[in-house]
Amino acid sequence: MKNIVVLTGAGISAESGINTFRDSGGLWEGHRVEDVASPEGWHRNKQLVLDFYNLRRADVLKAQPNAAHIALVELAQYFNVDVITQNVDDLHERAGSKNVLHLHGEILKVRSQAGKQQVYEWRKDLNIGDTCELGSQLRPHIVWFGEAVPEIANAIRIVRKADICIVIGTSMVVYPAAGLIHEAPRTASIYFVNPDVNAVPQMPNLHVMAEKAASGVPMLVNQLIQDQC
Ligand code: NAD
Repeated sequence: MKNIVVLTGAGISAESGINTFRDSGGLWEGHRVEDVASPEGWHRNKQLVLDFYNLRRADVLKAQPNAAHIALVELAQYFNVDVITQNVDDLHERAGSKNVLHLHGEILKVRSQAGKQQVYEWRKDLNIGDTCELGSQLRPHIVWFGEAVPEIANAIRIVRKADICIVIGTSMVVYPAAGLIHEAPRTASIYFVNPDVNAVPQMPNLHVMAEKAASGVPMLVNQLIQDQC
């Protein structure tokens, strides 16, 4: 079976009702990222950061996977599929995808601010005073801007084995995630699904679908399955 690596960003979850980030003028749900998604923001105002992620967590719990998430599950019947997502939602998993690597963390988990070891499943609001068993404040299990991306080495290893790469709904501006596509073998076919073609990198073997994910991804999946049969 061929290896397909799918790189997803906020755009794949847009039609599930979870807002993207850069489409709203560089603000994330009305906030500057430095205030809600950076270690400095956390030290300045923990309550603001907790309130922000409590709302994001509630949004994710209300959302459902869309046709794009679901089509990728069908793709895995014909190919070895790895999903590498910048998203912190769990919509790939809830659709049924098995191999999902979260580069930027997961909104339904929290961890101790004292260390990366204590990670817990978390579905309710997180408040000041919620601590790990060692007594340290819990924080969202999210990779904030300015923090290291612990899964990047695993992601690079996976992309280097790709026969086909599919890039869905990412503005390709947040590094190191945006650089992953350049780790694909030169022979790999690259498919790019995004209604905004300005985000497209210049690469050989690139096929662009200027479509929203929920319509473009099922079309692409059907095409790849037919080409395979
Ligand atoms: P981004 O907001 O920077 O870019 C979104 C991209 O999706 C844009 O290129 C846009 O043209 C495209 N898009 C919009 N609607 C689409 C649709 N219906 N179908 C396909 N594409 C569509 O998001 P990013 O590149 O993922 O990077 C921003 C950062 O924000 C990431 O670190 C991510 O962790 C975080 N974020 C995550 C979520 C989530 O978990 N769902 C939501 C917002 C932001």
